[in-house]
Amino acid sequence: MRLSTRLIHAGFDGDPATGAVTVPIYQVSTYRQEAVGRHKGYEYSRTGNPTRAALEALIADLEGGSRGLAFASGMAALTTLLLLFQAGDHLILGDDVYGGTFRLQDKVFRRFGLEATYVDTRRPEHVAAAIQPNTRALLVETPTNPLLKITDLRAMADIARQHGLLLIVDNTFMTPYWQRPLELGADIVWHSATKYLGGHSDLVAGVVVVRDPALGERLAFLQNAAGAVPGPQDCYLLIRGIKTLAVRMKEHEANARRIAQWLARHPRVRRVYYPGLPDHPGHEVHKRQAGGFGGMISFDVGSGELADQVVRRVRLFTLAESLGAVESLIEIPARMTHAAIPPERRQALGVTDGLIRLSVGIEDVEDLIADLDQALAG
Ligand SMILES: *Cc1c(COP(=O)(O)O)cnc(C)c1O
Repeated sequence: MRLSTRLIHAGFDGDPATGAVTVPIYQVSTYRQEAVGRHKGYEYSRTGNPTRAALEALIADLEGGSRGLAFASGMAALTTLLLLFQAGDHLILGDDVYGGTFRLQDKVFRRFGLEATYVDTRRPEHVAAAIQPNTRALLVETPTNPLLKITDLRAMADIARQHGLLLIVDNTFMTPYWQRPLELGADIVWHSATKYLGGHSDLVAGVVVVRDPALGERLAFLQNAAGAVPGPQDCYLLIRGIKTLAVRMKEHEANARRIAQWLARHPRVRRVYYPGLPDHPGHEVHKRQAGGFGGMISFDVGSGELADQVVRRVRLFTLAESLGAVESLIEIPARMTHAAIPPERRQALGVTDGLIRLSVGIEDVEDLIADLDQALAG
């Protein structure tokens, strides 16, 4: 079956007790045992819960893996992934990964002896050069945030395979609707499900999918041991969100393409970052590994003053962090999502004061363009 069908049907085939068509919210912590150790597959909801199990089966199916695991947030998912490693192990991370990913390694796991090197993963030769005898994994994100830099996932998978490393991909921006890293050779894919998978700015969650069943077992052990699991209400909401992923992602992209093309012609816009523009660096690589370009756009208006004017004047775009929901959001990375990065480093990465990031929603695109037009005027 094709993905749009699996979005609706995978992971759940009606409630065995009642025939309920959607998965019930099993708001329960523990389960009656007929005799010691004799039960229906559930003992305690940190270990397993039927609503969560439906979500985990669904996401495993969508990403094409053997096992899915759900977590209380994207960062809870990554925390549990990093528990696979031990003191003295070394990781290679993209130099432009999500800020929270950098922070978790640099400020937390480094204290426990996990080492890391940060490299520009657009350059496979830089990645290969960073490998040490104790390197265990390669963590990448494509496209990145906020400059939509593209990494060649097949090239990363080749390097990982040659050196016996795990390739771990943050697929938050694309979702399995547009990009399935496991099919390109990755070992583990993870998401902030808070973003496009949830899609309605109404929950915080994370998911992980793995290809190898033995690795899935190890992660299920760690998920239960560390316990950073989502509650059944959020699992239910996330399943509900995922059902419309196909229709949402198509609309996000159609709107984003139009807006990116319009911005590229606007006299006050210096530069537009959108993987769907033919002159975007990495456009061809992205086209080979993904089915679409997504709904995130960044653009540079040349000054912090003008960026400030735009976010003050917009009426339809909401000034907020986060991304990937049905409503359009706008933000200034240098002062919001990326404010914790030192100014020199921000400049070096290209995150200028005049850079604006849009998470394009699924409103009518003419209304969105009219809003940006009046905000950029004057
Ligand atoms: C938001 C985000 C995360 C973190 O996920 P949370 O659900 O906020 O914990 C990780 N990666 C990317 C790309 C994100 O956008």
